[in-house]
Amino acid sequence: MVDDTGKQAAARVAGRMRVPDDGYPTAPVERIASLNPAQRAAVGFGIEAQRGGEQRHPPLLVIAGAGSGKTSTLAHRVAQLIDCGAEPTRLLLLTFSRRAADEMSRRVGRLLGRRAAGTPPLPWAGTFHGIAARLLREYAARIGIDPAFSIHDRQDSADLLNLARHGLGFSARAKRFPLKGTCLAIYSAVLNTQVALGEVLQTSFPWCAEWQAELKSLFREYVRSKQAQQVLDYDDLLLYWAQMVGEGELGREIGGRFSHVLVDEYQDTNRLQAAILLGMKPDGNGLTVVGDDAQSIYAFRGATVRNILDFPQHFEPPAQVLTLDRNYRSTQPILDAANRVIALAQERFTKDLWSERRTGEKPWLVAVRDEADQATYVVEQVLARREAGLRLKSQAVLFRTAQHSVRIEIELRRRNIPFVKFGGLRFLEAAHVKDVLAILRWGQNPRDRMAGFRAMQLVAGIGPKSASRVLDHIASAAPACLLLDEQPVAEAARPAWREFAALVADCGPARTPWPTACERVCRWYQEQIDRLHEDPLPRQADIEQLALIAATYPNAERFLTELTLDPPAASSDEAGPPLLDEDYLILSTIHSAKGQEWTAVFVLNAVDGCIPSDMATGSTAALEEERRLLYVAMTRARTHLELILPQRFHVTQQPAHGDRHVHAARTRFIPHALLPDYEQLSWPPPAFVVAPANPHARQQVFDLTARMRAMWE
Ligand code: ATP
Ligand code: MG
Repeated sequence: MVDDTGKQAAARVAGRMRVPDDGYPTAPVERIASLNPAQRAAVGFGIEAQRGGEQRHPPLLVIAGAGSGKTSTLAHRVAQLIDCGAEPTRLLLLTFSRRAADEMSRRVGRLLGRRAAGTPPLPWAGTFHGIAARLLREYAARIGIDPAFSIHDRQDSADLLNLARHGLGFSARAKRFPLKGTCLAIYSAVLNTQVALGEVLQTSFPWCAEWQAELKSLFREYVRSKQAQQVLDYDDLLLYWAQMVGEGELGREIGGRFSHVLVDEYQDTNRLQAAILLGMKPDGNGLTVVGDDAQSIYAFRGATVRNILDFPQHFEPPAQVLTLDRNYRSTQPILDAANRVIALAQERFTKDLWSERRTGEKPWLVAVRDEADQATYVVEQVLARREAGLRLKSQAVLFRTAQHSVRIEIELRRRNIPFVKFGGLRFLEAAHVKDVLAILRWGQNPRDRMAGFRAMQLVAGIGPKSASRVLDHIASAAPACLLLDEQPVAEAARPAWREFAALVADCGPARTPWPTACERVCRWYQEQIDRLHEDPLPRQADIEQLALIAATYPNAERFLTELTLDPPAASSDEAGPPLLDEDYLILSTIHSAKGQEWTAVFVLNAVDGCIPSDMATGSTAALEEERRLLYVAMTRARTHLELILPQRFHVTQQPAHGDRHVHAARTRFIPHALLPDYEQLSWPPPAFVVAPANPHARQQVFDLTARMRAMWE
């Protein structure tokens, strides 16, 4: 007997669903027909268990290579579930970035067609951190935290840890105690890998092992001060969520809110994230995860590929494992080259892919003289492709670290070509943006010392001393008692202080409607900007941009949370990010390019020292992760892939030695034996190079900056 719920019946009447002979509904024919049999199996897996009223959906793992349709399959599965009666509000979809979550929501909306119009199809689509923040605010009262908690980004966390480090007197030790960044990395590694401090120190930070006892007391103090200030850091979001769902009854309640939990890019999750999923769905009912072990690129943040490999065995019977082997993204020559790069990896589980797009050009290895030529070459190629009809948006320039794109950015600006940069220095890391956010955050949570300390020093006449005094005053006052106006500040600073105090008080929850509160803060800050900064103009533009972004959020809390967790990716270009309907080139770190694809992809600096990064050649594991990074970069390309190899790099040395060039070798991940997979090109072609009279002339660099410094030595 078919469990014919009212919803399904209604849907049939409306002619939305095809009801095959066996009696249970599938998604509309045209939608499902585009999928291959393996994808179809993944989309429909377990959904037939709804027959007979049984609400069991056994756990499923889809493990497959790049571009095989994992994300598409997940979107189809969500649409199929909704078609079969699942409530969109009961679907939890976890993605790697907010951008990916938005894209997934849109995709599901498109798949569902007009039915989804007007309603957000997936209210619970987001990143692990974003969803954690929402759930923790909702359940705050049940787990003993204040729902108005602030969230500290990595920089704030390191600063707070540093205060604790000073407070405990560790910074004054005769022998050098680890710096704040290292302390935070150790703390974060312990939490995210769920491994004991001693072991983390031995394996990853052996030079800090002698400080184990001090580190422990430092972390204790750090946790104490976070709690006193009602602050959670990134790691806390996952930790609290994991702990919350680890509490039997509460875990069942929260897990029970969601009929299905679906996770994309599962290879880049860590043990805490796995614990969260198991806490919510101990028997795996309704759990679907997809990923590719060959694309695991976040081990440096505690992600473990074991999560995906061990997933099936967590359940009894073990989770179903499905694989996909057809790639829909790239041409076969691009796939061949990428497959052979990853085939040299020490460990690998997913199989090679094949593509129907059998013909096409091989990827290019392009040798250029230096980074300046690299920038000129890439920009000219991008423009040539645009002339040939390929939009800028269908082209991307990828690089290992954000600094690698500096020359290209200059070249693009010079030629007035719009671009958006993902990854690297975020908009939010700019001092002026942090200032405005600190005021808003302090208004929301007066116990947040980091925010208060930063915000107060923006007022003329208030320095660190007065700021600390005010914070101590507030800390000893009754809860929720701010009374900023009456704080002990110097007489001379009083008028400016009064104006500021009123501004902060207005930012408190439910005081001034949103986004007016933010607009006011921005206006106040713009009035101060000439006093605070020597280069106010580009900063003014950023503040205006921030006000515009704020207006797209329903309230201060959502704005601050989401901005802290997943800041806007566009770089703080003076002109602001291009309008959405404009055409623009994508510049992205390889890490931020995860899950995406472009018709033409240029990978910068495919040389040793950049890929692999010279920071990562110390251990085999780090080196293997770099290999996977190159694989991720190459598999972003649909039709055209170019790896650029600058032959020389400019290195700044000690003033006395002047600057020099070092010669770079092709990345070790493309050894000689793999060269037949590529076309090779030298640019500019030798015939066009006008030989300088002195062959060394190009290398001669007059470092005037070094001379200036030397004047004072
Ligand atoms: P990655 O590993 O990079 O995250 P993925 O496995 O998630 O890749 P998708 O991004 O879902 O792959 O799909 C890659 C491309 O293939 C997309 O353009 C998608 O639209 C297309 N595609 C996937 N399945 C099919 C199909 N059955 N028919 C046609 N195109 C498909
Ligand atoms: Mg994907």
